[in-house]
Parts: sequence; C-alpha cells; structure tokens
Amino acid sequence: MLELRGVVKDYRVRGRTKRALDDVNLRVRRGEFLSVLGASGSGKSTLLSLVAGLAAPTEGEILLDGAPVTGPGPDRGLVFQSSSLYPWRTVERNVAFGLELLALKRAERKRRVAWYLAETGLTEYARTLPGQLSGGQQQRVAIARALACEPEVLLLDEPFGALDVQTKEDMQVLIRQIWQDTGITVLMVTHDVEEAVFLGQQVVVLASDPGRIAARVEVPLPDGRELAIKHAKDFLELRASLEDLVRAQHHGTVTSPGTKGK
Ligand code: ADP
Ligand code: MG
Repeated sequence: MLELRGVVKDYRVRGRTKRALDDVNLRVRRGEFLSVLGASGSGKSTLLSLVAGLAAPTEGEILLDGAPVTGPGPDRGLVFQSSSLYPWRTVERNVAFGLELLALKRAERKRRVAWYLAETGLTEYARTLPGQLSGGQQQRVAIARALACEPEVLLLDEPFGALDVQTKEDMQVLIRQIWQDTGITVLMVTHDVEEAVFLGQQVVVLASDPGRIAARVEVPLPDGRELAIKHAKDFLELRASLEDLVRAQHHGTVTSPGTKGK
C-alpha cells in the first residue's frame, strides 16, 4: 500500500513561501487504479514528484508498504506528459535503460524488453529511434520503459495530455489493459475529467491554492470497460458532477459534492 500522511509541500519563490500541497492524506491499495483530478496548478505534478521521490515533502511522510520513500527507486515507475526518451537510443534500448541499472541477468533483461514491447504493441519498432515514431508511439515506449522495471506502483502525470483524441483513447484502453494484465497499482493525475472517470476505480479531486484533497469518489463502473462506456448514463452523470466539483474547487466557490445542475 502507498500512503501519504499529512503531506505538505512548500516552494520558495523569490524569498516567499508558496504552499503547493497542504495536509494531503491518501491511501492507495495494492492493485488499485486511482485517478487524481485537479485543475492546472492544483499540485498534481508536485504530488507525483513526491511519491516518485524526486522531491521531499516539507512536512508529513510517504510510505510504500510501510517503508518511508526517501528517493527514486525501481519500485515506482514514472511516466510524464512528454515522453523524455533518449533520442539516440533505439526503442528497445530505451526500454532496457532502467534495467541496466538493476542487477539482472542478460536473459532476464531480454525477456522483459521483449515482453513489455509486445504488451505496448511496439515489437516491430524495437530497432527504431524515438524521433521516427508518432507522439502516441513515443508514449508507449515511455510506458514500456517504466513497466520493464516491474514497479509496484505506476505513476502517470497527464500521460496522454499532448495526444490527439483518437490516440489518447487508444492509450487509455492500453493502460487499462496493462493494469488488468499485470495487477499493478496505478496512481494517475490528470485535469481531464472524462479520463479520470474512464480509468479510475476511484477519483480524488484536488482543490487549488494550496492543493488539497476536496473529495474522493467511487467510480460505479465495472472493471472491464470499453470506450463505449463513456456514453453510458452512469458515466455521464459522474462526469458532470465531477466537472462541477472541479470548477467549484478551482474558483473557490463552495458546492456540495454530487451537485449536478448546470
Ligand atoms: P499541476 O501539476 O496540478 O499543474 P504543480 O504541482 O505543477 O500543479 O504546481 C502546483 C503549484 O506549485 C503551482 O502554483 C506552481 O506554480 C507551484 N510550483 C510547482 N513547482 C514549483 C517549483 N519548482 N518552484 C516553485 N513553485 C512551484
Ligand atoms: Mg502538472
């Protein structure tokens, strides 16, 4: 289980303190898919960078299976909006990158690279350079690279935000498939309400300024989901109420959770 206890994050900006996150308490069960939804500036990337161990909380603590997170580690895999691939490495060498830092036998490295390239539909691009791939394919490589280390938790920071709608939906289906195939824990942050609902088993809503948890709601949809579910009545109702909630948090007006009127 991943647990955030009383997490506060302050940044120093030109001698002043800017509170990005305030008293965040969150539990993500092993194997859960949790979406964190918030407007731009609500502290989503800050939250993920703390869990990834790229920065330390100002107050509070982060525990993974009871052990404090003190830095980056192979138990957490991170995928950003921009894929940040190594342009001079082929697709397979990008996927192998994290594995080279682990003490793995050559055969196991090869097995994992082949497996996660297949899982992300990239087998035929193994020897291709990232620059020759589309944006969606590049994100697949970034996902394969994160998965290859077989992390306990996959951290996704608006991973499909830069993609066109069709590619984004393909990627959403892919990430659900991977989650179902591997049983991995996923913590995804996004500003996209539809995406948060389609992918998450639960959705946490962040309020802005400072970022803090405003609500946590169950997504009452089956685990096996196809894109068509985005048109279902339950889906549309939850989406509408979350849109209202996000809007209210962002503008600082008080609306009770579940309010649906437009
Ligand atoms: P989001 O990912 O939801 O857009 P961020 O976590 O990037 O939000 O930012 C949350 C708040 O913290 C914003 O007000 C942002 O300006 C501020 N912030 C983020 N990173 C830094 C930083 N390195 N230094 C100073 N302020 C930062
Ligand atoms: Mg961000």
